[in-house]
Amino acid sequence: MASGGTPELAREQPSLNLLKRPLVVVLLVAVVVSVVMVTRALRLERAPVSTAEAPPLELDQRRLCERLSRAIQIASVSASEPSALELGRLEYMADYVVDTFAPLVEQLEFERHSRSLVFRWSGTEPELDPLLLLAHLDVVPVEQEALEDWTLPPFSGEITGGFIWGRGTLDDKGSALAILEAIEHLLTDGFRPRRSVIVAIGMDEEIGGSEGAAALALQFEEEGLEPYLILDEGFAVLDGVIDTVPGLVAGIGIAEKGAIDLELRVELEGGHSSMPERQTSLGVLAKALSALESEPMDAEVDGVAALFFDELAREMEFWPKLLITNRWITEPLLLASLESSASTAALLRTTTAVTMAHAGVAPNVLPEVATASVNFRIHSRDSIDSVMEHVRSVIDDPRVQISVMGEPWESSSISPVEGPAWTLLETTIRECYPGVQVAPTLVLGATDARHYAGLSKNVYRFNGIRLGPEDLSRIHGTDERISTRNYLEMIRFYARLIERA
Ligand SMILES: [Zn+2]
Repeated sequence: MASGGTPELAREQPSLNLLKRPLVVVLLVAVVVSVVMVTRALRLERAPVSTAEAPPLELDQRRLCERLSRAIQIASVSASEPSALELGRLEYMADYVVDTFAPLVEQLEFERHSRSLVFRWSGTEPELDPLLLLAHLDVVPVEQEALEDWTLPPFSGEITGGFIWGRGTLDDKGSALAILEAIEHLLTDGFRPRRSVIVAIGMDEEIGGSEGAAALALQFEEEGLEPYLILDEGFAVLDGVIDTVPGLVAGIGIAEKGAIDLELRVELEGGHSSMPERQTSLGVLAKALSALESEPMDAEVDGVAALFFDELAREMEFWPKLLITNRWITEPLLLASLESSASTAALLRTTTAVTMAHAGVAPNVLPEVATASVNFRIHSRDSIDSVMEHVRSVIDDPRVQISVMGEPWESSSISPVEGPAWTLLETTIRECYPGVQVAPTLVLGATDARHYAGLSKNVYRFNGIRLGPEDLSRIHGTDERISTRNYLEMIRFYARLIERA
């Protein structure tokens, strides 16, 4: 029996093994990959950081909030072609700062330009490179149709329910006044910085900053100024905004996107709508716009976005952490997940936004000319040229004329995430916002900082405002407000930064 059975078994076994071998190999590989992935995820822990909290400042909350409130009540809206009234309000805004911060005007060096204010506080060691703090006092307008959605009128500056309400509280009068209040507090305390501090406040940031920040940057360059650290608005302390990360996250903008507006124009024969060609100018334009929307530029988790998510992953739950720490294998999954939200997708690619369109005069007349504008926010890996090339190849229709509107700008350079300037900023944030996680990030909008980029490699964007999930839409939106507690926290942050610098 044994001798009879064995040869048969022996004949069968090799074929069985052959069948099994690929499966075993696949299983083995899967086990090894899983172990590597889990190990990588588990190995990533929160970096050990000092938990020392900055000493509190004795601040007169009521007085400080009222001074910000009065600044909010001045509707210093900037417009590209301002009326006499609008110009008058901007002037009045500057007058208000000069009057309110009289001790600074008297005791520091002060310059008033047509679209900016500069305060220079010379340090005890003037040979050290200065700290350059930026902010702006102009605001975006409030749409007439949105007025009724506001809980309180946008320029009321009312202080109620623990908040100061109104346009400019978050963007960016809160920062401008917090910086000046911090300096006034330190001055009164008899403090004198080692490193000189320069505060440059623009009055036209919302319309590009060409007369404010750009002119000042040129002046600073001629003076040979090389700031140790340049700090502007641009990113904030996020509180519960990223649902996979519990607790506070302070994003420091180490780069910002560029921008370009393109006009698409189609001119075809007009006439009566009863005898149309297969496509009207509007139809051709619509097809081009639709193509641009369905073929956005490439998205990748690299550069600044990779730094951001790698840092955040330290605090994430297991599954998202697994996904982020194993990008070598999870990239497609991670991309799909991040691209599902507009705010994270914008970190990964140059965005395409169709913003305006005009065509036609009557329902029964063929439109001769159809135009549309498309706004692109240029990611660090792309350029004005690569956007143009992408648009031409996606539209691929000679009937669509493509031209550049206004003045586009490239994405900024990327500031370092190490070195003394970064450490100064990071440590100050940790001291002022206990328990916060600090991560470098990409600023999606534009700030005045881009004009100063040639002066220093250490350009950072962070201003200490706290934003919860429902606050993101308040910037340039309805019911802009800042909590009185947060405003005092910002003053403390700027004061601490100056002390430590
Ligand atoms: Zn702003």
